[in-house]
Amino acid sequence: MILPIALYPHPFLRRRMQPVEKITDEIQALAENMIETMRNAPGVGLAAPQVLADARLFVIQPDTEDPSTTQVFINPEIIAREGKMELYEEGCLSIPGVLAKVRRPWVIRVRFQDLKGQWQEARFEGFPARVIQHEFDHLDGVLFLDRLPQLRRRLLRKDLQAVEEGKIRPGYPFVHPRLRPQPQTIG
Ligand SMILES: [Zn+2]
Repeated sequence: MILPIALYPHPFLRRRMQPVEKITDEIQALAENMIETMRNAPGVGLAAPQVLADARLFVIQPDTEDPSTTQVFINPEIIAREGKMELYEEGCLSIPGVLAKVRRPWVIRVRFQDLKGQWQEARFEGFPARVIQHEFDHLDGVLFLDRLPQLRRRLLRKDLQAVEEGKIRPGYPFVHPRLRPQPQTIG
């Protein structure tokens, strides 16, 4: 099922998500729906708050051409940040039409649960590490905009205002705080 994506400045995007206590059927279904929603958009990552689900869970598919790069992260922790800092352009399905270069570490180590509830530890570098850090931030209510220097952010003000006012509408189903009533929280 394709889920509507919450658009900036939806207040749910600013909340800190709750840990997933148990991998229930509902969590399984949420992960599957999020993968479908991410691929439909299309995007390379999607975090639970973006579909108004209160859970520390995100999905990624760093290569949109290759479904085997899909991965589900539950209760993730970034346990190490290594390597050089890299500047790379990011966008967000919740902030359509806005792109900006964000500085982040090149290499990370992540501890997380998979859909079977097994704890995994893995090292990621380059683009996948970038996507994971972006999605991980969402679980704490942090958007890539928050990681921009003030001046850069000020330059984006008009674009952000257009999103805020609902003037920019993505090609995928969405929920906008000013355009429709807020739906109920899932999970
Ligand atoms: Zn995002």
